[in-house]
Amino acid sequence: MRDVSSWVHQRTRDGEPVCFYAHDLAALRAHVRSVVEALPEPCRMFYAAKANTGAPLLAALGSEVAGFEVASGGELAKVRAAAPGSPVVMGGPIPTPSEIDAGLAAGVLRFHVESLLGLHRISRAATAAGVTAQVLLRVNLAGPFPAATLAMAGRPTQFGIDEADLPDVIRAALTLPGIHLAGFHLHSLSNNLSAETHLTMLELYRDTVLAWEQRFGLRVTTVDVGGGVGVDYGDLDRPFDWATFTARLRDWVDTLPDHWEEIDFECGRFLVAECAAYAVEVLDVKHTHGRAYALVRGGTHQFRLPSSWQHSHPFDVVPVEHWDPTLPRPEAAAEEVTVCGELCTPKDVLAVEYVTRIRAGDVLVFRAAGAYGWEISHHDFLSHPHPEQLWIG
Ligand SMILES: *Cc1c(COP(=O)(O)O)cnc(C)c1O
Repeated sequence: MRDVSSWVHQRTRDGEPVCFYAHDLAALRAHVRSVVEALPEPCRMFYAAKANTGAPLLAALGSEVAGFEVASGGELAKVRAAAPGSPVVMGGPIPTPSEIDAGLAAGVLRFHVESLLGLHRISRAATAAGVTAQVLLRVNLAGPFPAATLAMAGRPTQFGIDEADLPDVIRAALTLPGIHLAGFHLHSLSNNLSAETHLTMLELYRDTVLAWEQRFGLRVTTVDVGGGVGVDYGDLDRPFDWATFTARLRDWVDTLPDHWEEIDFECGRFLVAECAAYAVEVLDVKHTHGRAYALVRGGTHQFRLPSSWQHSHPFDVVPVEHWDPTLPRPEAAAEEVTVCGELCTPKDVLAVEYVTRIRAGDVLVFRAAGAYGWEISHHDFLSHPHPEQLWIG
C-alpha cells in the first residue's frame, strides 16, 4: 500500500474535512498474485467477496484468482457485473429460493450447502431448471480445533451441518435428483495468525474427509478448506507466514488421494486487508476527567472493524500545518488518546493509542482497512456524508 499523505494534503484545503478510503489496486494485484503463485497443485484460491465488494477491487481480482465465493444474491450480482467471466462458487448460511435460482441462472460452479432443507431447495430448483447442481456440504466439525480468534465450528453455531446429522444429509445428497455431491466444505475459523495452526487444521480436515469417504463409501473430488488466514492488527509488520505455510502445504498435498482433484481456499481478509487505508481528519481534541479524546470526521459507521473485533486499530498521524489562526488549535501530546468518531454513542471508538502529538486539523490514516471495513459498517447511522472512495492504479 503506497503512502497516502499526498492525497491527504491535496484535500486539506478543500473546505470539507478529509475523509476517504484509498485502495491501492496495483499493490492488491501484486500481493494476490504472489499468494496464488505460491499455492501448489491442486489448490485454488477463491476470493470471499464479503470482505470487500468494491467494484474496482472485484474487477482487479478477476484475473488473479480462480474465482469468487459469494454468500448472497447481491454479492453474486456485484461479482457478475464487475468480473463477468470469472467462476463463482455460492454459499451463505441460508440462501432463499430466488437466490438459488439466480445462482443456477448464473451458472455457478458449485453450491456450498449448510442444511438438509437447503439441499432440498437446491435439488428442486436445479431439477426445475433441468440441470444438476454441484454441491459441497459444509460441515460444522465436532472439533477440537486449534485456537483462533473467531471459531465458526467445533462449537454450537448457526453455520454448517452438525457432524451428527451428516449421515442423513449425505444420503439425501446421493439420492436427490438435482444434486451431485462433489465434496465437503470446512470453513471453521477466522483470523488465524499461525501458519503452524493452519496446517494442523488442514491435517484434521484431510483425516476427517478420508474417514467420511470410508464410512459412507464415497469418493469426493473437491474439498474446500475455507478462509480464515489472518491479519495481525496488533502488529501489521508481522504478516501471516504464507511462505512457510505453502511450503508445508506441498507436503500436505502429497498425502492426498489422487481423486481429490481440487482443494479450494476462499480467503477474504488475507487477500484484501492491506490494500486500503482509511483517512480521517481530526475535528477536535479535548480532555475530560483527565483523559484525551480526538474526535474525527468519520468513525465506526464507516469503519466498524475495530469495534467489531474490540481492538485498537493502528494508525499514523499525518501532520497538517494549514490552520485558521483566528481559531484555537487543541492538541494532545505525549499521552494516551482515545480516537472517536462523530456518532452520539460511546461505542464509536476506533483506537486507543499513546501518541506523540495529535492536533485538530491533523489527519489519521488507519492501515489495513481493506477487509471488513466499509463493507460491514452501518453507513447511514446519524446520516453523515459517506467517505470518498479512491481507487488507485
Ligand atoms: C467469511 C467467510 C470466508 C472468508 O473468511 P476470511 O476470514 O476473510 O478469510 C470464507 N468462507 C466463508 C464460508 C465465510 O463465511
